[in-house]
Amino acid sequence: MGCKQSVFNGHSEKLFVKRHLGPGVQVSPLDLGGKDSSKGVWDVFEVLSFHELYDANPDWMNMTQISWRERQPGDGEASLNDDLDDDDDGIDNLDEDCIEGSDGESDGYSITSSLSRRSSSARSRAKSASATRPVTAVRQVATPSDDEVRPRTLRPATAVPAKPAVRPPLTQSLFPNIPPTIHFETEGFKIEQLPWDLRKLLKWRMSPITPNIVKHTLARSHFRITKRNHDWLGCWGKHMKSQGFKSIREYQKLNHFPGSFQIGRKDRLWRNLSKLQVQNGKKEFGFFPQTFVLPSDLKLLKRAWEDGGPKQKWIVKPPASARGIGIKVINKWTQIPRKRPVIVQKYLGRPYLINDSKFDMRIYVYVSSYDPLRIYIFEDGLARFASMKYSTAMKNVNNKFMHLTNYSVNKKNSEYQSNGDEALCQGHKWGLKALWNYMKRQGVNTTQVWENIKDLVVKTIVCAESPINSMIKSNCRSRYCVHELFGFDVLLDENLKPWILEVNISPSLHSNSQLDINIKGQMIRDLMNIAGFRIPDKADVLHSNSVAPSATEFSSYYPPNDVCMDKRLFTSILAPDERAKHAYYCQRHQDEQVLQTILDVLTPDDIRVLTECIDEDSRKGSFQRVFPTPSSHRYLRYMEAPRYYNLLVSQWVQRFNRMEQKGIALLEQFCDEGINLQNPTEDQNHQWCPPNGLLSHRGDNRTHSAPNKHQDKESAMKHSQSTSSGLPKMGKKPPKAPVPHASHAHHSGTARTISQCSSASSSLVSAPSPTPSSQTVNKSAASSSR
Ligand code: ADP
Repeated sequence: MGCKQSVFNGHSEKLFVKRHLGPGVQVSPLDLGGKDSSKGVWDVFEVLSFHELYDANPDWMNMTQISWRERQPGDGEASLNDDLDDDDDGIDNLDEDCIEGSDGESDGYSITSSLSRRSSSARSRAKSASATRPVTAVRQVATPSDDEVRPRTLRPATAVPAKPAVRPPLTQSLFPNIPPTIHFETEGFKIEQLPWDLRKLLKWRMSPITPNIVKHTLARSHFRITKRNHDWLGCWGKHMKSQGFKSIREYQKLNHFPGSFQIGRKDRLWRNLSKLQVQNGKKEFGFFPQTFVLPSDLKLLKRAWEDGGPKQKWIVKPPASARGIGIKVINKWTQIPRKRPVIVQKYLGRPYLINDSKFDMRIYVYVSSYDPLRIYIFEDGLARFASMKYSTAMKNVNNKFMHLTNYSVNKKNSEYQSNGDEALCQGHKWGLKALWNYMKRQGVNTTQVWENIKDLVVKTIVCAESPINSMIKSNCRSRYCVHELFGFDVLLDENLKPWILEVNISPSLHSNSQLDINIKGQMIRDLMNIAGFRIPDKADVLHSNSVAPSATEFSSYYPPNDVCMDKRLFTSILAPDERAKHAYYCQRHQDEQVLQTILDVLTPDDIRVLTECIDEDSRKGSFQRVFPTPSSHRYLRYMEAPRYYNLLVSQWVQRFNRMEQKGIALLEQFCDEGINLQNPTEDQNHQWCPPNGLLSHRGDNRTHSAPNKHQDKESAMKHSQSTSSGLPKMGKKPPKAPVPHASHAHHSGTARTISQCSSASSSLVSAPSPTPSSQTVNKSAASSSR
């Protein structure tokens, strides 16, 4: 294993990279002030950031550990561990914590505890680093590196421009008064640096499982690592107990939702899906093989076993594992384990075969928010083939190379063939797009198959929407703080029907071929762009004990510049009329006519949520949004309880289907007036009152109960008729409202500066994201506004 250390010598930083040279390689120790007596070979780089390090040695991520003193005196020490030595999904220790009867939370570590656990070793490393005298001589030995022994991170064989294309560091919102998001790129692109004042805030918290593909993406955007609790903006790590989410601050983002084990554990997934199957029938929810959770379902299994007859095969799995570990195909009752909890599932014995081999698909699903629910599917993915031709013969049931499609299992077969080209249908791993092309040539209607997969994905996410939302609400400060990538394993049967086998909450992002790098690299780039990381307000980061601001604080808050995060946009504090509006529409969610009036008066909070959805969609790259869509309201009925934001966004996407620009123009106008930053608003055009005038005083601080449904429907209709004309009433420009707070006026002014600046000088703005609607602000624009 290798490690890196760096020394802050007052003027510049030196980073020492020690490479692991493999057993038996003779190396010389480097004297680091007597502190390091281990053997190794060291390269020294003068570095300022990940990015420069990356430029100096693009393979630096393959080193195992980094520890360094950052340039600013007093800054914390950071450490980075390398990728796991595997290419399969993470297990996330869900099984240790999620036993039946417990609250089922996954085992992990809280940010606080994990840092404190590591802090003593971090401190001692920091001490040794600072005690080190500056090194002037560097000894380098030309020996094979890790990469030569076992290629883990590959450089693209495909055309990478000699001089990488340069991209601006920020992506501008489509709307005024909404700060930009940090821009991410793939290999072959370089991102301009922000001014140091902003760049120093780009900090990431490393976890031992952060994949290289994520690290590379961060490096290109000039992120640096931190071990401190309060100054990181993002983390890609293990799942953790839901309590741990409480320590995530409003400007930080973790790549998991509390409670996502509700779909990430096989037993929970089955329980949640089967509940909806009972309610809605097998036609809608018949895409999951019948499953029994043992020991509790043993009697039910016995009955189904007998009904299935002697030819039925079953598959036994641990309830919360991955990589094919502990999985067995069985056909004898005596093979059922009795001593450990397992799930026993009907084996799908007639899969769709290609070249006589079984395969499954890895579909990448990204949920950026659970409320409102926003689900994206990546257009590309992987098809993973079993490495032995398929047979239904009973004598082969024990052959894992025939029945399991996991890479971890099949790589052990000497027949396994890798594939480096995502466009080619060769070897045992194909790109999903290559698979579709192949199947199209076989006459398969792949569009229909893809539609069915999307349907399965939305239903699967929806099945645990309720418990996950409860956990988010009780443990997270804001919807900004959590997001998650899921790896769906989908099998096609001989009739091309997709079946969900499992959902991984830590899908493998390890990349040991060019195919992996290309597909996963683009996917992560797009995911990070959708996620919409923001530069934090420096004042928040400095106050290491900051607490969520109260409503009064929000009304007097304004960010120091127009590039850093505006906390008001993510507040969960609602004005009284907004609370009443939520209650009103949730109670009448089944009445389509009443629902259509939800857009008649848009409150500041409505505008915040809608602009966030639209902005996010414009950054989606090669992801497809599958919820919300103009037809996704059909899924709302599967949710345990109606959620206001889903109703709102659903109406919006239906109303402005095929005329998105009209909707954007309208919201642009409201944001230009600063309505989205008000809480509460004094603009009567954006204060909601129920159709029958139950809230007698606009802006009244009391929340009123909603009227009964019958009475209310009529008045809602009247209200709608009187306020809308064809298109929603909000299509008309409302009278200019007085700006209620000096702070808003100020902010509004600076936001105009940035947009004027960007549009005035088109050379400062480019559109790096694949969607034309998304613009990017470069550092000049950013700094000019400060
Ligand atoms: P793991 O999390 O360990 O990967 P999976 O549920 O994904 O467990 O199963 C591993 C592999 O076993 C799948 O990739 C698939 O090839 C095969 N498999 C799993 N369940 C079934 C099933 N019900 N019918 C047919 N094959 C299955």
